[in-house]
Amino acid sequence: MEQTLVLLKPSCIERCLVGQVITRIQQRGIIITGLKMMQLDEKILREHYAHLVDKPFFPGLAASMMASPVIAMVLKGVDVVEVFRKMTGVTNGRKAEPGTLRGDFCMSGQANIIHASDSVENAKIEINRFFRPEEVFDYTPANIAFYYGEGEA
Ligand code: UDP
Ligand code: MG
Repeated sequence: MEQTLVLLKPSCIERCLVGQVITRIQQRGIIITGLKMMQLDEKILREHYAHLVDKPFFPGLAASMMASPVIAMVLKGVDVVEVFRKMTGVTNGRKAEPGTLRGDFCMSGQANIIHASDSVENAKIEINRFFRPEEVFDYTPANIAFYYGEGEA
């Protein structure tokens, strides 16, 4: 099954939304295969947001991502990269559709509570950036037959 990399940003941690976001992940039937709290630094943020390093808002973005620890997760599911990006909603929380995590839980284009990988290729790179191999578990729920029909997963 496909995997994706998620970060619960300081705006999620500080606003005590962690439980609600994880509940939404689990109620969708998405499997958590890795989870840890970590303090990001400038080095990892310059890699992670390499496409934004030259933007005027990058220093503010980096500061906002270092304002508290984050929670990093690896999520697993069929087509999970695309499914979870849809659940995340568009970048600006004020424009995100109600029903999405950003559309339900934030009002900001920067403090938008969550990061989710945007392609299968980037998901692999980002999982390797934030997790050592032994921190991602080869885990599937025992009742997986109730998550997917035969031949789907
Ligand atoms: N960001 C920002 N201002 C912008 C665009 C992006 O502060 O004008 C921040 C925001 O926190 C966003 C992150 O930079 O989540 C990464 O930007 P990207 O375009 O990759 O959006 P995402 O994939 O997170 O929706
Ligand atoms: Mg992005």
